[in-house]
Amino acid sequence: MLRYLSPFAVLCSMIFASACAHTPAPTSSDRSTSQDGEVLQQLREGNIRFTSHQRIHPNQQPLRRQELTKGQAPGAIVVSCSDSRVPPEFVFDQGLGDIFSIRTAGHAVDAFALASVEYAIEHLDAKVIVVMGHTSCGAIKATMASVPGESTGSRNIDLLVASIRPGLKHLDRKDKTLRADAIDNVEATRVALERGSPFIHAAVEKGKVRIVAALYDLDSGDVELWE
Ligand SMILES: [Zn+2]
Repeated sequence: MLRYLSPFAVLCSMIFASACAHTPAPTSSDRSTSQDGEVLQQLREGNIRFTSHQRIHPNQQPLRRQELTKGQAPGAIVVSCSDSRVPPEFVFDQGLGDIFSIRTAGHAVDAFALASVEYAIEHLDAKVIVVMGHTSCGAIKATMASVPGESTGSRNIDLLVASIRPGLKHLDRKDKTLRADAIDNVEATRVALERGSPFIHAAVEKGKVRIVAALYDLDSGDVELWE
């Protein structure tokens, strides 16, 4: 499950480290942990606002737009499906400059997607990679409907389903939401990020960035986050 530091500990570690007699000065790894905890908390709170119809649409004012002309520092990288029903900024109630978003059908990652993640870690100092799948994913349906060895009629879609197929373990056609397979697919993408990129793997090992799995429920709007 998610790890959170208490607000007091976060305050101590970020602002008053030297003045908090009983709190050791944070190591770089501790500091990263507190920052990724804050980012995850923001996403979680945003999703609660989304599902309870209390969105505040943060960071979308002209002033924010102006500020961002100087640069960006999104805390979260979200690797998610291109599905029109699952826009990360909506479901997490975030605004401009908050999420570095990488979207492909079924959140399959190729070299360009990996390069995008690497860029956000190295140059934007993002602290968390959220790999977010969703129920009733069309890319998973298409993969399950395809026949191994037979072309779908598109070389590109053949590549996509060939990339997704090995990660699907349940192949549960009885559950129309394909929830179990969506979770499998999230896990496959999570593994693909580290296997496909020594840079991402090293960043995770060093504690510079954390990968968190997530599943969006198309019906309820809830995002379940887990490590
Ligand atoms: Zn999808």
